[in-house]
Order: sequence, then C-alpha cells, then structure tokens
Amino acid sequence: AVPLADRRALVTGGSRGIGRAVVRRLAGDGAAVAFTYSASAAAAEKLVAEVAETGGTAIALQADSGDPEQVTRSIDETVTQLGGLDILVNNAGILPAGPIESLTMDQFDRLVAINIRGVFAAIQAALPHLGTTGRIINIGSINADRVPLAGMSIYAMSKAAVAGLTRALARELGPRGITVNNLQVGPTATDMTPEDSEIAGTLRELMALGRFGQPQEIASAVSYLAGPEAAFITGANWNVDGGFTV
Ligand code: NDP
Repeated sequence: AVPLADRRALVTGGSRGIGRAVVRRLAGDGAAVAFTYSASAAAAEKLVAEVAETGGTAIALQADSGDPEQVTRSIDETVTQLGGLDILVNNAGILPAGPIESLTMDQFDRLVAINIRGVFAAIQAALPHLGTTGRIINIGSINADRVPLAGMSIYAMSKAAVAGLTRALARELGPRGITVNNLQVGPTATDMTPEDSEIAGTLRELMALGRFGQPQEIASAVSYLAGPEAAFITGANWNVDGGFTV
C-alpha cells in the first residue's frame, strides 16, 4: 500500500532529528516531501540524496522559521516545485532551557518567533493550498502538560501555546475539511535531547516504558495522522511520550 500517493508535504526543520525521520517516513509512504532547515545544509543535502536512493522525492529549502517571510517563501516554493501542498508538519523548534533569571529577552523572543510565530506563519501561508482534505500536524511537547524538571519555563509555555492553537484552529478549519492535530512528544533521542545526557536517566525513570523514543516512532504517528485513516481525528493533543504522563 502507498498511503500517501499523490500527496505533497512540507516538514519544517527536516534536516535533523524528528523532522528528518518524518521526511523519510512520509516519502516512504509515497508523498512528495519538501523540508526546511536553517543551518544544517550538509545534513539537508544528505537527506535529499538518501530519499532519492530509496526512490522517493524530497527537496530541501533553506528557511528560518523565525522569519515569517522566509517561511512564506518556503511554502510558495513547495507549491511551485511539488505542484501543491496537502500536508504541513510544523516540526522546527528550539529548546532554550535554564533558570528564569538566566533567560534573556532575546532568548524569549527567538523562542516565540520559532516555536509559536513560525507555526502560525506556516499555517497561514499554507492554508490557501490545503484544499478540502488538508492536514496540519504540529510537533508539540509533553512539557505542555507536565514539567517534572526545572528550567523549562519558556519552552513549556511555547508548547502550551501550540496546543491551544491546535484546538482553536481545529474548530475553525474543520468546516473546510482540514484537520489540525498536535503530537505531544516525550523524550526522544535527538541532538536536542540526547539519550546519554546528564538528565537522561532521570527522564527514563519518569517514563512508563523506561526508555527514550526513537525519531522513527514519532514519524509513525505523523504518518498515521497524515494518512486517509485519520480523517476523523482533529483538535487532538495526542501524547506520544512512552508514558511520561501516566
Ligand atoms: P533537533 O534539535 O534534533 O532538530 C531540530 C530541527 O529543526 C533541525 O533540523 C533544525 O535544522 C531545525 N530548526 C531549528 N531551528 C530552526 C529554524 N529557526 N528554522 C528552520 N529549522 C530549524 O530537535 P528534535 O528533532 O528533537 O525536535 C523537533 C521538534 O520536536 C521540536 O519542535 C521539539 O521541540 C519537539 N520535541 C522534541 C523532543 C525530544 O525529546 N527530542 C520532545 C518533545 C518535543 P537546522 O540544524 O538546519 O537549524
């Protein structure tokens, strides 16, 4: 089965980590996939080549999610190169952590620009193209609901914003046939949250499964939400967290 044949997807922040796994998975499902990156050009090129080797289609677009003009340009470029856009995966995100006294206003503004405004900008620019069966999938965080360790104030704030945006837009876009969902991801082995960090052991103890997720395990949930079987799911803030919240 080729569940996403003839579908066109854009994944923000696809060069590394979860985004990279999502690009590979959606391309493997038969979608033509564009993805953005900001700094990791070599990793982006490598991913394009890897997907091509498996017979899939992926294109890389440099676009800083913190700049709405670049985000809009990446959407327009996707539509031009892939012939349309059906699935938007808002994955790009940053994690500035630390005690509240140590966080600067510049860090705050950059976080809001990427984790919140970038999501809004991408959705706004994508909407005219999403038709009556479009899918918007946000990559949020379980920290929107549960924050067992200190130092996560503005990151948790940003992911709670994504959860609220998801609910409200599901309501607003439902009549158009467009679904909007948010995967609240738990600790997953990427550069952002390495499995061998100082706090990794503590995180594992908090999870029912006692292990980190792998990026492909997040990508499989994205694949499901992007596919035809998930047509009745919208407005969900769905925990994919290895039991971090139980
Ligand atoms: P990584 O740091 O491993 O990868 C981040 C990706 O986003 C990279 O491809 C990076 O590309 C891209 N990116 C970062 N900033 C920008 C930007 N300004 N514009 C465009 N692309 C950008 O993170 P993860 O894969 O771990 O995280 C992906 C998403 O999952 C994030 O939204 C994160 O908050 C969320 N998440 C992750 C969890 C985890 O445990 N890993 C847990 C919960 C949520 P480049 O290098 O080119 O900048």
